[in-house]
Amino acid sequence: MKRRDFLSSALGAAALSSIPHKEAFAADLAAVTRTGGETTLTRAEIKEFADSLTFALLRPGSPRYDSARKIWNGIWDSKRPALIAQCADTDDVINAVNFARTHDLLVAVRGGGHSISGMSICDGGLVIDLSPMRTVLLDLPTKTVRVGPGALLGDLDRETQAHGLIVPAGVVSHTGVAGLTLGGGIGSLMRKWGLTIDNLLSVDIVTADGQLRHASNDENLDLFWGVRGGGGNFGVVTSFEYQAHSFGPTSITGGCVYPMDQARDALEFSFEYSLDAPDDVNVVSGMTMTEDGEGAVFVGVTHAGDQRQAERDIQPLLDFGKPSLKAVQPINFVDQQSAADGRNAHGRRYYIKGRHINDFDPTLLDVLVERWGPAPDRFTTMRFVRFGGAVGRVDSDATAWPHRHANWGIEVGGHWTNPNLSEEYVQWGRDYWDALEPYTAKDFYVNELMDEEQDQVSESYGKNYRRLVELKNKYDPTNLFRLNANIEPTI
Ligand SMILES: Cc1cc2nc3c(=O)[nH]c(=O)nc-3n(C[C@H](O)[C@H](O)[C@H](O)COP(=O)(O)OP(=O)(O)OC[C@H]3O[C@@H](n4cnc5c(N)ncnc54)[C@H](O)[C@@H]3O)c2cc1C
Repeated sequence: MKRRDFLSSALGAAALSSIPHKEAFAADLAAVTRTGGETTLTRAEIKEFADSLTFALLRPGSPRYDSARKIWNGIWDSKRPALIAQCADTDDVINAVNFARTHDLLVAVRGGGHSISGMSICDGGLVIDLSPMRTVLLDLPTKTVRVGPGALLGDLDRETQAHGLIVPAGVVSHTGVAGLTLGGGIGSLMRKWGLTIDNLLSVDIVTADGQLRHASNDENLDLFWGVRGGGGNFGVVTSFEYQAHSFGPTSITGGCVYPMDQARDALEFSFEYSLDAPDDVNVVSGMTMTEDGEGAVFVGVTHAGDQRQAERDIQPLLDFGKPSLKAVQPINFVDQQSAADGRNAHGRRYYIKGRHINDFDPTLLDVLVERWGPAPDRFTTMRFVRFGGAVGRVDSDATAWPHRHANWGIEVGGHWTNPNLSEEYVQWGRDYWDALEPYTAKDFYVNELMDEEQDQVSESYGKNYRRLVELKNKYDPTNLFRLNANIEPTI
């Protein structure tokens, strides 16, 4: 049985209830074009598109349309695409890209659905939904891993850790591998092994012309440079190949929790402690809410080395201040990777963004602590991560990710459930950031985009932006893939 036939029968049977009924195609459909205009898709065009897909084409009224259009950040719950093409293989992706281009549709590309700024969903356009493509295939002799664009970090970690391997990625298990990788990929092992893109060996990508291309250090080198930090600007990636490393199944983690009256001191300590730490030491610090609705400060370390060295490296942290809690222990790495899942639950309304910090000015902490605090129905959160190590040893123009010189990253924001509070809390987030911006760099990690303007995106890419525009002109001159931290073509 051919692969597509197998998928048609296996996935098709599983998804039978979600395949649109004939009557769902009984009418033409109003849709939004690439540039925001109006268009109409005829019943015959939609039917032909649906027939070209192995899996499912959903439209308003289809079973599962409402769940399929929801992404992680509930603030975008009102967005209603005209069509959601759920792709099960590369041919489905090619057909979806060709359909979008032919009908000049607005397109959103969805991997794990964690775009904080809501870029993986749209109003009136076509969503290319890759969530059925969740395979993780290991090649043990070469320690390489091929990952489908719908895979989540938990899928990747579970498969690799079962064989004592790891691909350095993020820290919340329900985040998508695809979007995280294309933006860069920061996480708790990056100081030892670099960003996720530093461990990327190749991609298969469907560009705007509907061609499937392989990009690596040997083939389509320009494209390979661009997908390592340039986000989803150049096409739809259908497969990622990574170099894995021997690690686990436990990591040594250490951490201290402090009451809020020690916030400034503990956070300042985390900057000093992390500045000259060895590459094995990955420091994260921040403020979080406790169950009683109050705040607490934490400084945590994930250690990438052996236990004895970890205990030595973590000791200065354990000796600092008067923590209400302190511990150093081996933790199953897969469990550690899902420890923050609950605090980052799907469907809540999030306003969160990040910036880089090159030079640390301690008065930043006064502003942070002053404005941080509990509010009704709001979970307020912030964290610092230390870059450097292997991240900083790559040249700023070696990949599209230009922030190699950044010393720390800061993320600040909040989340809530009540939609009526969104306006107030989004404004709170914006005001908070207005107060923080004098202390941060202008560049930011594109995967922490929230409501930045286009000129901020180009400025953030710095010297790499010109080369990204050349690539965009070559591979996506009409800006079909525009719902992202956009590289605007100039032709
Ligand atoms: C709870 C949470 C935790 C996070 N933790 C981390 C972390 O530890 N480290 C880190 O680096 N980042 C982290 N992030 C940020 C994360 O990297 C981005 O949100 C990323 O975009 C998520 O990828 P996704 O596939 O889930 O997103 P999606 O919303 O599916 O996609 C985001 C964007 O990526 C592009 N895209 C996705 N798939 C493809 C594809 N196959 N081909 C082409 N373009 C594609 C599209 O432009 C899309 O708009 C976190 C985000 C959240 C919400």
